[in-house]
Amino acid sequence: MKAIIATKDRKAEVVEKDIRPLKYGEALLDMECCGVCHTDLHVKNADFGDVAGRTLGHEGIGVVKEVGEGVTSLKVGDRASVAWFFEGCGHCEYCTTGRETLCREVKNSGYSVDGGMAEQCIVTADYAVKVPDGLSSEAASSITCAGVTCYKAIKVADTLPGQWMVISGMGGLGNLALQYAKNVFELKVIAVDINDAQLEFAKEMGADICVNPLKEDLGKVAQERVGGAHAAVVTAVGKSAFNQAVDSLRAGGKVIAVGLPSESMDLSIPRLVLDGIEVIGSLVGTRQDLREAFQFAAEGKVVPKYQMRPMEEINEIFEEMEQGKYTGRMVIDLKN
Ligand SMILES: [Zn+2]
Ligand SMILES: [Zn+2]
Repeated sequence: MKAIIATKDRKAEVVEKDIRPLKYGEALLDMECCGVCHTDLHVKNADFGDVAGRTLGHEGIGVVKEVGEGVTSLKVGDRASVAWFFEGCGHCEYCTTGRETLCREVKNSGYSVDGGMAEQCIVTADYAVKVPDGLSSEAASSITCAGVTCYKAIKVADTLPGQWMVISGMGGLGNLALQYAKNVFELKVIAVDINDAQLEFAKEMGADICVNPLKEDLGKVAQERVGGAHAAVVTAVGKSAFNQAVDSLRAGGKVIAVGLPSESMDLSIPRLVLDGIEVIGSLVGTRQDLREAFQFAAEGKVVPKYQMRPMEEINEIFEEMEQGKYTGRMVIDLKN
């Protein structure tokens, strides 16, 4: 079968690979598609260490072709996910308290185990989340990482309908966050981006207030117009976006960090203490989060933007991603 692997010279390559026999508890998926995430770019570039030879991909959707001994959660013909959270240990303090993505023994698809950018992929059946009817595999693919990451970030903000949320960064992630915030959590949204075209699009998707921080001070707008936001989800990858998010909050507000700039954010201790500001890091989502995120998409509340591309274009896709050329998801077609 064909697979897209990371190479020694930090490129991706389509190669022929053999698939090993299934072990206890595993399932074999015939892959339908796999989205390309910014994290794949980091893995390919060896930013997290050299994993040359590894099959990339953690936004995969496939159809179960075969199940190994002991599998009861999936059957042949089911559609299931290949997500970044491939598997936890199942018994540590995180795995047993609803925080399995923090497991210290975690395995990640397309990084520590072979991922979904291949014609076939082996998953641990209990960790592959079933895709509900009514949701296409292509749309489900974007939910498997980008969608669930946004959904979880808003979920941990623990807001009530009608409250204000700042969503910083209106790219692929922010656009999905906006849809979950408006259509699932019934929030009022201040959309933030330095690109006016993205803001225009956010407005069409229902953003209540749009702010370009190159032209306006986000903190000032949020404080003056709505008395400060209850929470701010930051998907942007710049330190300034985090600092502006802090300034935009009302007392008791929360910053939810999703973007990963390799810097520190500024939060004054008096602001932290006197205003009871909370800072929460949110990493992808658990299996249950993904089930919920899938279901809302199946109900049409969230509609990912994507474009199908052949396997052979993977290096072009990475180049376009590095140059910030597109905003919707690029999804590798593995069926045709
Ligand atoms: Zn991802
Ligand atoms: Zn664990």
